[in-house]
Amino acid sequence: MNAEIPIHPQAATARRAIFLDRDGVINRPVVRSGKRYPPSSLAEFEILPGVAEACQDLKGLGFLLVVATNQPDVGRGTLSRDSVESIHRWLLLQLPIDRVMTCYHGGAEYGDPCHCRKPQAGMLLEAAEALKIDLAKSFMIGDRWRDVECGLSAGCKTIFIDWGYEEKLKRDPHFRARDLLGAARLIKESLSLGSESDWLEDPF
Ligand SMILES: [Mg+2]
Ligand SMILES: [Zn+2]
Repeated sequence: MNAEIPIHPQAATARRAIFLDRDGVINRPVVRSGKRYPPSSLAEFEILPGVAEACQDLKGLGFLLVVATNQPDVGRGTLSRDSVESIHRWLLLQLPIDRVMTCYHGGAEYGDPCHCRKPQAGMLLEAAEALKIDLAKSFMIGDRWRDVECGLSAGCKTIFIDWGYEEKLKRDPHFRARDLLGAARLIKESLSLGSESDWLEDPF
């Protein structure tokens, strides 16, 4: 996992976080022959419309923003860790993200098991420990079943970004949205439904 990126100083006292999957939530997946791939370089990395606005809105609501991304192609030897890290350094300059957590493991089926690859909750648990995040007051947003399972396992609220691709979910997310801006609106609405203390005691 990538733990060297420091916490944003103003976020040090925040307790709630939005965990963001990367590919398909922040950036447009690269599609080749109908299959979705992660961008292999900055040239292929396109931040989706509305993402910057959504991030600003969520920061404005007091959330930490933590990216949690599986990049198994690194462990499988088809993508270099350097290219992923340079994308993330650039991403941190573009968006008000507090930390990027990356699982580089190829997965058990490639002989490279770990505790951080989503659907496992390792990256969220590690970030929660490091940044003092209350997972029950936090959200996980992603476009795959792995993201929903990871968020549920960590005890977060989950929002599934539905691209209309065939994606069989194992369990239902708390909410569905078309994109990150839609997800940010849902979060904003859920917070304004009652007073903060009501929401904390009886989240949804
Ligand atoms: Mg994704
Ligand atoms: Zn891992």
